[in-house]
Amino acid sequence: MAKFTQLQETDYLLVMHKQQLLSHASIEIPIIQIPHVEKLLVKVLGNANILNEAELIQVGPYADGQCYVFDVFHSTDDSYLVSFRSLMQAMANEEKQLINRAMQLITWRKQHQYCGQCGQKTRLHDEEQAFHCKPCELFYYPRISPCMMCLVTKGDYCLLAQHQKHRNGFYSTLAGFVEAGEEVEATVHREVMEEVSLTVSNLSYYTSQAWPFPHQLMIGYFAEYASGDIVVQDKEIVDAQWFHYSDLPDIPPPETLSGMMIGEFVKQRTKNVK
Ligand SMILES: [Zn+2]
Repeated sequence: MAKFTQLQETDYLLVMHKQQLLSHASIEIPIIQIPHVEKLLVKVLGNANILNEAELIQVGPYADGQCYVFDVFHSTDDSYLVSFRSLMQAMANEEKQLINRAMQLITWRKQHQYCGQCGQKTRLHDEEQAFHCKPCELFYYPRISPCMMCLVTKGDYCLLAQHQKHRNGFYSTLAGFVEAGEEVEATVHREVMEEVSLTVSNLSYYTSQAWPFPHQLMIGYFAEYASGDIVVQDKEIVDAQWFHYSDLPDIPPPETLSGMMIGEFVKQRTKNVK
């Protein structure tokens, strides 16, 4: 872990609090160059001394320097906090990836302070980005949870589901975590059957998206309807229906993988019509 005093003037810092980013009205991107950080912290916390004790995690190169992240435990003025989700759409890919990574590293540090085998305190390894338990010779790398996302299509229709947590809100693609020992394609078949009782075929991989809430890797597939009638089985799903590409309900925003996939489906179908 780096200390603030070791950093260069060309380095950058992401300051997080309660899984949100500390920002400043005059700084649009919450990746703050070192000379400005102290000023911001004096404004928000009343002092910047907290920086001298902070353990910073290196996130990666940015502009002419390195970007680090630290998590403020003290309470701050919440009006300076912005959520990553609210910034995503307007943000360039480089910044998005950096913040995504920073958030996952903060979660990782919080959750791997002790060895899961012997219970002793772990230490950050000198060379690997991993927490290490010396007696057990175990390494704890940042955790990544693979999760499939699937848009089932049937001609000009696609299957969208409303989830319990978005009740009265948008309809989205199906999704589910990959289980131990399972291949992603098997997850697609299993989840589609478990959630809506359909079989699918002709799976095609679309793209993936790192999703730091808290550490998913979303893996997107298109699949064609093969057989069955929609019967919602999963209690997390309130409703699931076929929707024509020209008559969709509210869907997730385009910066999410689900939104991207539905957008791609509509684009393909619209192209076919022309
Ligand atoms: Zn151990």
